[in-house]
Amino acid sequence: MGLLDGKTGLVCGVANKRSIAWAIAQALSAAGMRLAFTYQGERLKENVEELAGTRPGSVLYPLDVTSDDEIGALFSGVERDLGRLDALVHSIAFARPEDLKNDFVATEREGFRVAHDISAYSLVGLTRAAMPLMEKSGGGAVLALTYYGAEKVTAGYNVMGVAKASLEASVRYLAANLGPKNIRVNALSAGPVNTLAARGVRGFTGMLTHHAEKAPLRRNVEPREIGDAALFLLSPMASGITGEVLYVDCGFHIMGV
Ligand code: NAP
Repeated sequence: MGLLDGKTGLVCGVANKRSIAWAIAQALSAAGMRLAFTYQGERLKENVEELAGTRPGSVLYPLDVTSDDEIGALFSGVERDLGRLDALVHSIAFARPEDLKNDFVATEREGFRVAHDISAYSLVGLTRAAMPLMEKSGGGAVLALTYYGAEKVTAGYNVMGVAKASLEASVRYLAANLGPKNIRVNALSAGPVNTLAARGVRGFTGMLTHHAEKAPLRRNVEPREIGDAALFLLSPMASGITGEVLYVDCGFHIMGV
């Protein structure tokens, strides 16, 4: 018997096999959860289709989180195909390349809006849409992915750090709203992982080296470790935890000078 046998989950944010969302999906699926996946645009469909195809019983939907219509269509599809939902994984972030390249002070209104819409508001929109399907399950768990740059200034992270701060605050407000419905909302703050999105951050390779040198475990986190921590937070093992940000960063965030 798997920890999540008979449970269903929606994983948003798989772009390819390096995606953190894919590491999480593998952990959830290995524990018995049936999964729905989303892909953003036809460009990524084939990639995600191929990966999702390796998970028995999985289903696939398009999703651009900037569209309320697509969010609505997604959850109609999930309701039709899965009937209910126990878990939602939000592993989505975007900022315009110029806003990760220039100084933060140069961020224009549109860049600020786009980063916050896609990387933070989308958690609120997706969670609200997931709520009725989680209530059908008697409760559920939502997980968002964040980074230390929400808390401390990280060179090159810029508007994404500010959007992650908004995401983490949203986790707490959502957790307070949804707790009475037995829906838990948490975030996992991952150390740097070499993914498509991460490579958009100026100086990312240097960031990997710095983390590995400074972290108590003297290495960078492996995607599998993020998947395992996500499995914990989304499973009944974490039934008493909500509104939390759990660091999976080999201890990097505890270090001062
Ligand atoms: P990734 O593989 O590039 O995943 C990011 C995902 O966000 C992609 O699937 C991307 O699709 C999707 N996305 C962007 N805009 C979207 C939109 N408008 N609608 C729907 N989906 C959209 O990179 P990742 O590193 O695994 O990122 C996953 C999460 O982990 C993000 O929240 C990220 O900030 C967080 N995180 C990453 C690290 C790290 O070092 N990698 C560390 C801590 C936290 P497209 O490719 O089509 O844009």
